[in-house]
Amino acid sequence: MELTNWTNGAHVKSTSGRHSDVFNPATGEVQAKTPLSTVEELNDAVAKAAEAQKGWGATNPQRRARVMMKFGALINEHMDELAELVSREHGKTLPDARGDVQRGLEVVEVCMGAPAMLKGEFTDDGGPGIDLYSMRQPLGVVAGITPFNFPAMIPLWKMAPALSCGNAMILKPSERVPSTALRLAELLQEAGLPDGVLQVVNGDKSVVDAILDNEDIAAVGFVGSTPIAQYIYGRAATNGKRAQCFGGAKNHMIIMPDADIEKAADALVGAGYGAAGERCMAISVAVPVGKETADKLIEALVPRVEKLKVGPYTSEADVDFGPVITAQARDRINGLITSGVDQGAKLLIDGRDFKMQGYENGFFCGPSLFDDVTPEMDIYREEIFGPVLSTVRTETYEDALNLVIDNPYGNGTAIYTADGDTARDFAHRVNVGMVGINFPIPVPLSYHTFGGWKKSAFGDLNQYGPDAFRFYTKTKTVTARWFSGIKEGGEFNFKPMD
Ligand code: NAD
Repeated sequence: MELTNWTNGAHVKSTSGRHSDVFNPATGEVQAKTPLSTVEELNDAVAKAAEAQKGWGATNPQRRARVMMKFGALINEHMDELAELVSREHGKTLPDARGDVQRGLEVVEVCMGAPAMLKGEFTDDGGPGIDLYSMRQPLGVVAGITPFNFPAMIPLWKMAPALSCGNAMILKPSERVPSTALRLAELLQEAGLPDGVLQVVNGDKSVVDAILDNEDIAAVGFVGSTPIAQYIYGRAATNGKRAQCFGGAKNHMIIMPDADIEKAADALVGAGYGAAGERCMAISVAVPVGKETADKLIEALVPRVEKLKVGPYTSEADVDFGPVITAQARDRINGLITSGVDQGAKLLIDGRDFKMQGYENGFFCGPSLFDDVTPEMDIYREEIFGPVLSTVRTETYEDALNLVIDNPYGNGTAIYTADGDTARDFAHRVNVGMVGINFPIPVPLSYHTFGGWKKSAFGDLNQYGPDAFRFYTKTKTVTARWFSGIKEGGEFNFKPMD
């Protein structure tokens, strides 16, 4: 099936003649083709969006919020259908796909209150007869460029705040999982969004570059891998755009000697292997402190990891995680596991030869577990983005903390401990954007904000929550003085104007 773009409120076929395959990761079959749009198609969509934005930006915030209310209701109504779309192209299990939609919906819910977030500031009598006030105005046309691993959540994190602030948006979803974004665009139209305000333009690097070079696009919100995030940030900034670009991760969990090991092991299995490890907030490194803690942790982890069930989302059985996104991703993960063995790490559970009966051509990886990983190894240095958990043993809390501090990524991290003082010290000193205390995947709720530090994010302001309303608006500050007028008394004599 050849997919379309969504422009001016309708599905439109691209004329580019170039396509990218959308696989069913469980079978390895090509199930659809994503158009790789031309630069002209992108520029045309931007021009129409700029026209549509004028009316949308002038619509009062409460009316715009009502579109979000209806949109939220429609997402709920279509929850199962959306989750199915996510699973079909991404491969994650249905309960996990529902979580993907749900965590996006929660941002839509916050945007129902956008008018309160868009209120300006006011200073009465800042000087004699002088008032100051500031207002938040939309940027105009903005762009969202999103990754494959959350086909619903991340497009929703982009579109809901951008649109409720009165902008028009060009959304460029991942070419590997475009259908959920297209369906969300249809639902937004049903919710009352005027045509042209959200334009979904599919494509690859050439469309992304056209977005970065289009003078009518005022801001770019990107989520994906670090090298691309850095590239997009640089080019967008050079072209005078506001940019926030979120990148990859290597998230550590420290397990202290006083931690509840059973609970820590449960958390590690969920956070390490859920969604086949294809989460930017996945825990990929376990850092036990002390030999005894490490030995106990490994003893608790091995049977749990051995029990994990891998399979397609359509399976009747209770599946823990599905396939990875492409054959290349699977081969890269397997290659990294081999490098870990070659470089001296201890591979306790080997997922490389995993074959799913009846799905021999699917992109499945079994779970892998490493012990004795060291920071020089490729499996430590690279973001594996697969179902692989590495254990780095440390002797002291300071060693463990420094390992996290020295890592170039800074998206999420966690500590398991029974000691409030250690937890507090960790939260205070660690240079990572999102911290969990006895909580493995600390994705903040939608009325806080989401964002990493170091090489996990470029630009400022986080995604969703109060930061999003700042990112998607510009501030105008007015200093006003009114000279004395009618209140001093009226003029009753007829006299010429002078
Ligand atoms: P990716 O960087 O390959 O692709 C992301 C987007 O960039 C896609 O829309 C893609 O079409 C586009 N793109 C790819 N190559 C490009 C190029 N050379 N020039 C211009 N555009 C290009 O990322 P992915 O594989 O889709 O997603 C996985 C990555 O995203 C992981 O590194 C993961 O950690 C990261 N991620 C980060 C967050 C976060 O909030 N920090 C959230 C989810 C995923």
